[in-house]
Amino acid sequence: MSVLSIADARIRFGSYDALKGISVAVEQGQLVTLLGPSGCGKTTLLRAIAGFISLDGGAISIDGADMRGVPPERRNTAMCFQSYALFPHLTVYENIAFGLRQKGTAKEELEQRVQSSAAQVSLQAQLQKLPTQLSGGQQQRVALARALAVRPGVILFDEPLSNLDARLRDQVRFEIRQLQKNHGFTAVYVTHDQAEALAMSDLVVVMNAGQIEQAGTPHDVYYRPINRFVADFVGTANIMPVQVVGRDAFANTYRLKSPMGEVEVLSDEQPIADHVYAMWRPEDAIVQDGLDGQSNVFTLKVKAKSFLGNLTDVSVSAAGTDDLYRIQILGQTEIAEGEMRSFRIEPSKIRFLKERVQ
Ligand code: ATP
Repeated sequence: MSVLSIADARIRFGSYDALKGISVAVEQGQLVTLLGPSGCGKTTLLRAIAGFISLDGGAISIDGADMRGVPPERRNTAMCFQSYALFPHLTVYENIAFGLRQKGTAKEELEQRVQSSAAQVSLQAQLQKLPTQLSGGQQQRVALARALAVRPGVILFDEPLSNLDARLRDQVRFEIRQLQKNHGFTAVYVTHDQAEALAMSDLVVVMNAGQIEQAGTPHDVYYRPINRFVADFVGTANIMPVQVVGRDAFANTYRLKSPMGEVEVLSDEQPIADHVYAMWRPEDAIVQDGLDGQSNVFTLKVKAKSFLGNLTDVSVSAAGTDDLYRIQILGQTEIAEGEMRSFRIEPSKIRFLKERVQ
């Protein structure tokens, strides 16, 4: 049985459909992210799970029990917010103890739970401080400890890292994931940051305009995106309309006409039509000498390049087109703007999207 089951959840604000039928099952010990652009309904779904908004259709069950009419405080969930939502006049100890006091937890049990939650996030030495005496990362850990202390069935994270600077964000997201794996808590995590979703999740639910576009492992949504929206939202994608002009389904190979020229594809998934979209990732293009005679070698014009330290980002286009493709090369490259260069893309690195070209 799933810890959290969401079946065809629908929410309307006036005449606006914020959630148009969302179904997700979250298993014990899983971290599931809701990933999508601003306004897609992630927070609305999280608030519905917590009980702050009621559904207009569908159902949410926690531990097998239907949550219809169950108020937030009687649900087996705890929220961990982006703004930390700490009480500034209470010590770290009292902040962590807050949910336990609300639930009327006995004194000894409360003391023990505050101490163990603080230890989980390495805050034992900070318990008598006020939140303002802590760094942003430490404040976020207090918020996490407060959620952990009530030992909820599901912890609900609402963009918890968005107030932290980039370096700290990487560190805290790593810590949350380690903690989640070590202690096996179940979590639903809202973010619009695809890197965060890929790094942290067991399951990524990609949402758009109140609907799920795709739910899958980080590997699946990155390497097997279902359509242009997912391919483009999760990482950077070069997406091309293609026509299948030859196929050897036995060998899983396909010949395509594309704006870059003729392309060979090796795919265990068949295209859903003759005119579909295909995509490849910027890191999949290889630039090296001696490519002559190999398949999938494209001579493209270098339009721009930018050095990013660990890699160089290069924009290229095929002769006679304005379509730009992004290529990423590890480290530095001697490639110069304006020149024609040959690139190779492995046939297995080009993937069909399950989206027809209309
Ligand atoms: P963000 O990342 O910006 O927080 P989100 O994906 O979490 O975006 P939601 O906050 O869930 O998006 O909002 C989904 C849509 O519903 C938005 O268009 C928003 O304006 C609308 N909405 C949210 N709450 C209400 C409300 N109480 N009344 C009316 N419309 C609302």
